[in-house]
Amino acid sequence: MLKACGNICRVDKLGRIVVPVKIRRMFDLVENSPLELFVEDDKIVFKRYLPQCVFCGSNDELTEYKEHHICKKCLEELSK
Ligand SMILES: [Zn+2]
Repeated sequence: MLKACGNICRVDKLGRIVVPVKIRRMFDLVENSPLELFVEDDKIVFKRYLPQCVFCGSNDELTEYKEHHICKKCLEELSK
């Protein structure tokens, strides 16, 4: 469930917003941290982007192949 955090951000003329420092610290966001955007009805949700295995959703020991991530376990299964 979405929780209001009492912040109003304004979009600047280049379309950028500033994520308040309190929220950056909460989510350990530093310069160039990837964020994934979701939209639902009238909401825009930013989520810390963590790459996941395309097969099982794990983010353990990922290998990147043609812009997709595959975990070690699935990679071993594929190699059989
Ligand atoms: Zn996997």
